[in-house]
Amino acid sequence: MGKVILDVENKVKKTIEKYKLLGKKEKIIVASSGGKDSSVALYILNKLGYNVEALYINLRLGDYSERCESAVRKLCEKEGIKMHVLDINEEFGMKMCNIRCGVQQKIKVSNCMVCGIVKKWLLNKHARKLGADKIVTGHHLDDEAQTIIMNFLQGNLMLGANSGPRTRIVYDKKFVPRIKPLYFVSENEIRKYCEIKKLPAAYEKCPCSASSLRIRTREFANKLGKKEKERIVENFLKILPQLSDKFQKEKIIYCRICGEPARNEICKKCSLLSVTKKVK
Ligand code: AMP
Ligand code: ZN
Repeated sequence: MGKVILDVENKVKKTIEKYKLLGKKEKIIVASSGGKDSSVALYILNKLGYNVEALYINLRLGDYSERCESAVRKLCEKEGIKMHVLDINEEFGMKMCNIRCGVQQKIKVSNCMVCGIVKKWLLNKHARKLGADKIVTGHHLDDEAQTIIMNFLQGNLMLGANSGPRTRIVYDKKFVPRIKPLYFVSENEIRKYCEIKKLPAAYEKCPCSASSLRIRTREFANKLGKKEKERIVENFLKILPQLSDKFQKEKIIYCRICGEPARNEICKKCSLLSVTKKVK
């Protein structure tokens, strides 16, 4: 039992050191979904003495969102961590499902794609407003191996050029780097850690998560062993600097509509939402 705890914590410490992810003086916003992954990330970083605060985005997905919010709140109260909550209704005047349906009436995109783009946009904007130096997410070894395989299957490894334990975008005052301290920790280890420590967390899957490629890739990746998943991410990390070179040369500009950092004149969130006039 104690071995899992030590192993997971040591992996997190080593990843932070090796990839120079965090400093003790930095203000860190942990993107806390209420799920086990980000809850474990929040708990461990707080235990290691980092200056962490939690940011939960309530997407208004019915009771599921309320259970997730309550899990983050319980953990933060128990550990004395400051919690921030963003309400999608206040941000966009509607729930995530309505945003998504509006977009999907016009173009074919998966639920997770729309939600992911909106969440990243909100996280960056609000973490910056909170004065954060870094945003932490709960992505782990299984997530990363799946994403690499998915990008490969889509014939576009370049999609992963900005992934790895930290985003590799050149410094920009409006962009808060996102980091993944659980990059080398498997989902199984996280589940065990969360159970042993009895951390408040919602174990259910998001009711809207439906991307057929993601589901098929997960089924395939679940058949692989931990060593194989480690090899996938380790090999990917070897080619990442070359992939990222292209991105490093691209300048960050600010979206003509919302003013947030973007690679093109209009950011991903605004171009996605502008397909439907109903969505702000
Ligand atoms: P997902 O995109 O749902 O696979 O989640 C990936 C990571 O994004 C999680 O580990 C969290 O760090 C963050 N995240 C997901 N959903 C939320 C949310 N509702 N509020 C804050 N952070 C979130
Ligand atoms: Zn924009």
